[in-house]
Amino acid sequence: VSREYRVSKGRYLETLEAQGGVCAICCRGPAEALECDHCHKTEKVRALLCHSCNKGLGFFQDDPALLRVAALYIEQRSR
Ligand SMILES: [Zn+2]
Repeated sequence: VSREYRVSKGRYLETLEAQGGVCAICCRGPAEALECDHCHKTEKVRALLCHSCNKGLGFFQDDPALLRVAALYIEQRSR
């Protein structure tokens, strides 16, 4: 997760169009606010995310297991 745009503008626009101009997670984020989500190990761009989703992943240390637990937690507590 990084705010830096390490991809070219062309690559950015290409990715943006491929995911319909919205955030890859919530599908709500405005296109101009989308940030490049990087895999920390490979530095490869995973997708374009809105600020909230990008930061959200960062808060959970990009850990899928932790994110699943968090999702379960919310589902169980919402009943
Ligand atoms: Zn989002």
